Amino acid sequence: MKQDTYKHKGLRQQMVEALRDSGITDENVLRAMGEVQRHWFLDSALDTLAYEDRALKISCEQTISRPSTVAMQSQLLNVQPGMKVLEIGTGSGYQAAVLCKMGAKVFSVERQKGLFDHTRKLLDGLGYRVRCFLGDGYQGLTEMNYGPYDRIIVTCGAPEIPAPLMAQLKEGGIMVIPLGEEEQEMLRITKNGSDKKDWKVEKFGTYSFVPMLDGRNMGR
Ligand code: SAH
Repeated sequence: MKQDTYKHKGLRQQMVEALRDSGITDENVLRAMGEVQRHWFLDSALDTLAYEDRALKISCEQTISRPSTVAMQSQLLNVQPGMKVLEIGTGSGYQAAVLCKMGAKVFSVERQKGLFDHTRKLLDGLGYRVRCFLGDGYQGLTEMNYGPYDRIIVTCGAPEIPAPLMAQLKEGGIMVIPLGEEEQEMLRITKNGSDKKDWKVEKFGTYSFVPMLDGRNMGR
């Protein structure tokens, strides 16, 4: 059974201070990241690395995003408590847990069955009320009818802005999405109207994510 030791707590506090120094100002993001025990979302062998600012391997050849990326995406999302947030790419569940701690109602889609099964149980066991779904996040969550969402966060590199996702975003809503194939540009899109010309697009630098894959090859 893993524990949250003084060492974990200390390293986590240092991580939060480093995020603050690097320009993260949203106190809700900093508080949530100070509370979520990132080491639970990793293999025990990686325990000591959990609070370093690096991406680490999880199963199914996927990665948990580095803390600075999670903080940046969470801050760009401008989440208020009670908002409905759709995440594409559940992965380890860490980003979903952070959003949950921030008070969001989180819906998360993962295309890898192995990760979906593992992470759903983990989040549940840790008491995070994240609704997890297995499916192709490119399509969002149409058939479930939970939308539209106040916020959408994509945590895999998208080759294009998925039209079904924009359709499931509320008017006035925000989508944060890393766009590109080899490397990605972080975009924040504010949907000021249903027409594309009403979308405000802002850019926030270059990142490196695992690719958003096509749902037709589910689980590979
Ligand atoms: N948010 C995650 C990041 C995981 S990496 C975390 O905090 O750990 C990105 C994840 O996106 C991977 O698990 C990958 O399997 C998933 N993914 C890739 N393409 C997808 C798609 N079309 N639909 C849903 N998930 C997808």
